[in-house]
Amino acid sequence: MKDAMECYLCKGKMVKGNAPFSVDRHGYHIAWESIFAWVCTQCGEALFEENEVNHIQNALQQVDRETVALTLRVA
Ligand SMILES: [Zn+2]
Repeated sequence: MKDAMECYLCKGKMVKGNAPFSVDRHGYHIAWESIFAWVCTQCGEALFEENEVNHIQNALQQVDRETVALTLRVA
């Protein structure tokens, strides 16, 4: 893994850190307080790597499934 990245917004230096991430989906909202991310030391932009994005997507898929089970009840 690289030690530094360049911010795609301001060209500032991005360092390893943590950033919150929240998403509004149909029927629920999820907010993670702290996910591994590259954080720009200049503008504060956070960039998640593919690994974290994959885990977020997997988590949302599971919550989607459970949400369907919770909200769709056949009489
Ligand atoms: Zn930046």
